[in-house]
Formats: sequence, structure tokens, C-alpha cells
Amino acid sequence: MTEKKIVILGAGLAGISTAYHLQNKAKTTTIEKSNCLGGTARSFQINGFTFDITGHLLHLHHLYTKNLIQKLLKNNLYSCERKAAIYSHGVLTPYPFQVNTYGLPQKIVQECVYGFKKAVNNYSKDEKRSTSLPFNLWSLRTFGSGIHKHFMKSYNEKLWGIPLKDMTAEWCGMFVPQPKLEDVIRGSKKSFDKSFGYNVTFLYPKKGGIQVLSEKLGSRIPVKLNTSVEKINWKEKLVKFEGKEWVPYDFLVSTLPLVELLKKMTDLPKTIQNLIPTLKWTSVLNINLGINRPNISDKTWIYFPEKKFIFYRVGFPMNFTPHVVPKGCSSMYIEVSYPPEKKIDFQDPKFLKKVRADLEKCGILQKSDKILVTNFIPIRYAYVLYTKDRKKVTQKIFDFLNTNQIFSIGRYGEWKYSFMEEAILDGKKTAEKILSLS
Ligand SMILES: Cc1cc2nc3c(=O)[nH]c(=O)nc-3n(C[C@H](O)[C@H](O)[C@H](O)COP(=O)(O)OP(=O)(O)OC[C@H]3O[C@@H](n4cnc5c(N)ncnc54)[C@H](O)[C@@H]3O)c2cc1C
Repeated sequence: MTEKKIVILGAGLAGISTAYHLQNKAKTTTIEKSNCLGGTARSFQINGFTFDITGHLLHLHHLYTKNLIQKLLKNNLYSCERKAAIYSHGVLTPYPFQVNTYGLPQKIVQECVYGFKKAVNNYSKDEKRSTSLPFNLWSLRTFGSGIHKHFMKSYNEKLWGIPLKDMTAEWCGMFVPQPKLEDVIRGSKKSFDKSFGYNVTFLYPKKGGIQVLSEKLGSRIPVKLNTSVEKINWKEKLVKFEGKEWVPYDFLVSTLPLVELLKKMTDLPKTIQNLIPTLKWTSVLNINLGINRPNISDKTWIYFPEKKFIFYRVGFPMNFTPHVVPKGCSSMYIEVSYPPEKKIDFQDPKFLKKVRADLEKCGILQKSDKILVTNFIPIRYAYVLYTKDRKKVTQKIFDFLNTNQIFSIGRYGEWKYSFMEEAILDGKKTAEKILSLS
């Protein structure tokens, strides 16, 4: 057992996982500003409906996390098959768009296949489609002009909210399937039975929403809830919790959004301070609806690339597990992206009217459907923007923080596009690092 004092800021999965992996090996203090564990991976119940902060599905790739989650959730886990689709040009086509153009208007199918063939001929070498390219160029070179125009450009502009030339493709990795030409051609002629992508099947708790994972992982961690970090004196290695005294630390683990962490640090060197405004992100409004009709869709989620729809994605929790809706009902999570400086007036009834009209326009809702539950959750930090200088800037910041025994981890701490499994692994890695330095 090390004598070092470790303070963990934030009890989302990355923070809880750090504390979990330090159990019986170090004394830790974990604080969380909200009134429960889980951060973005939490759930809540309203009138018999269970909602996450949009759908939170478990895509597991590592044996360690597979075993850990199985051990924690035991038989409270369902294995689900992805049934994702894209709604465009008035039709639903299976996900991913690039290998499922069959069913779209013929002219669009031809543009997609022709463009892909041309891209393969011109840009077959990996360096010609490096992910450090601006996203629009990477997408054009990887998928060709048709798929770029009819899905990649429209969908990504809607999600990220900035011109695609101002961001790189470094976040894509496993998130954006890159098919072979033969698959693109095959999927243009008939429905495809082959699955693509990292999330063909996924796990989800049978009951209780994703919150149960956070609760189980944190069940033996003493967390000070409703406690916010106010200031950090990195020179003296002291942290102040709101309205309380300063607390000393040897190692500080932060899972706060990197921007928030830096703003709380007193006397930051100018060289670091000046980097803060270059960190950009986008916000998402999560709208959860409970509906009085069963089976409003058989899909797990649907992407909406077209501008005429206010949302970019709609998901259906009752298709992950039937235990999240009352009998005879359905539920939906709807995601609307917006720049953090913009205010969406979702209290204005006109806003929900527009959402409902769009849901009817694409056939998800019928005029006679009753909305039994409406719930809005603005997610201020939703997606980190992979701007051109993100890599260089974050490296400088992390070098400074690490030298001062501060580890900024997790999706927002490391300022990256990642998922729950990675947050758990980030916590494990950080715990091991601290123990090796102690
Ligand atoms: C719209 C959306 C959909 C997603 N869908 C999926 C999915 O399907 N599958 C998947 O695997 N992942 C998904 N993710 C990603 C997943 O939510 C994250 O990777 C993971 O939950 C991040 O955990 P974290 O601990 O790094 O951060 P967080 O969960 O953000 O935890 C940080 C914690 O710090 C606390 N905090 C903030 N400020 C302070 C302060 N001043 N003082 C004290 N505490 C503070 C917060 O309250 C929070 O609890 C999704 C994310 C979003 C935004």
C-alpha cells in the first residue's frame, strides 16, 4: 500500500475505474460534482421509462473489460444485434451507407459507385489518404465524390458543426468502416447480408440502463458526491473543493473536460494558458421521448444526414432491452448537435413541435401517437473537435500536466473521441502508472 495521496476528480467511468484499480493499493479521495456516479454513462427513470444520456451501448474489444463487465453485471446483460439504418431521399437503407446504396434513387447509386471506383484508382496508397488530412479530402479520397456528397459531407457537417476542411480524420479509426470496391459494388445491386463496423453486436444491461455498470464498478469506492473542484494550485500540489479547505495531493487524476481543468489551475504558464482557446468541441441536446405505442421502429438507431431534419440520430432503447419501457410503449433518444456558444430554447413549445413534425415526416411517429414523457438533457461537452492543431496542442498540455503529477484522462480529459470501454481502460492504465511511480 503506497502512502501517496491520490485525488480523483470526477466519478464517470474513467474516474471510478482509476479508484477501482487502486483499491487496497492506495488511499484515494474521489469527488463528483453531481449527485450520482456515472458521468455521461448514467441513467434515470421517468414514469416507468428508463433513459440513458442518449443510448450507451457496450462495444467491447478487450478480454480484460469483457471479463470485468461480465463479472460486475453477471446475468443482467443482453447481447444485441445492431440494426442501424440511414434515412435519406425518403428511404431507409442499412448502415453503413458506403456499402448499402441499393434502394436509393438510381442516379445516386451510380454516383456513389462511380466515385468510389475513381477514388480507388487515384488514391490507393495509404499515404494519399492519411487521416491527418483535412476530413473532406480524406473522405473524398477514401470514398469518392458520390458517397462523400450523399452521406459523409452532409452527416459530418451536421454532427460536428464546422467546415470539414477545418478538421482532420484522426478520430475515424474503427468508427468509420472503409470497405473494398467489390463490397461497394455488391451493396449497390442488392441488399447486403455482410456486416461492417465495430459495433455489429453490443451488450446492454437488461434492467436499469447503463447506470448499473457505473454503480457496480463504483460499489466499493467512497465517492464524495455533490462536491465540485474549485481551484488547483499545481505548484503547491493542493486542490480546493467548493466551499471547503485546500487538500494536499501527490498525484491528481482529472476526468474533467480538459478546458475546465486548465481553467481551474491557478498561475498557469502563459504558454499553456494561450492554448486553451484552441481547444474546440461541440454540444448535443439529448431529447428523450416516451411514446404510447409499441414497436414504433424495429431499428436500434437511425442516422439523418439531411439538413431538413433537425436531428442527426434517433435511437430506440426498447430495441436494446424490453425492460426500459412500460408495456405497450416505445421510447426514443434524439440527438441534436449545436455549437457550445449557441443557446437552444428547448423550453419553447415550437421546438418540440418541430422535432415531432420531423419524426412524423420520416414515418417514425404517427399523428395519433401520444408523447407520454419528454425530457431534455443538454450535453455541453459532447464531441471533441479534431481541429488541425489538436494533436500538437494537447501534447504540449499533457507534457506540462504529467511533469506536475497531474493525469488528465477519459474522453474529455484526454480530449478525444472514445467510448466507455476506453474510459475504463484509461482508469486502469492510470492506476498502474501511479503505482509504478509511487
Ligand atoms: C452523445 C453520446 C453518446 C455516446 N454513446 C456511447 C455508446 O453508445 N457507447 C460507448 O461506449 N460510449 C458512448 N459515449 C461515450 C461515453 O459516454 C464516454 O466515453 C464515457 O462515459 C466517458 O467517461 P469519462 O469518465 O471519461 O467522462 P465523464 O463521463 O464525462 O465523467 C466526468 C465526470 O466529471 C464530473 N465533473 C465535471 N466537472 C466537475 C467538477 N468541477 N468537479 C467535480 N466533478 C466534475 C462530471 O460530473 C462527470 O461525472 C457517448 C458519448 C456521448 C456524448
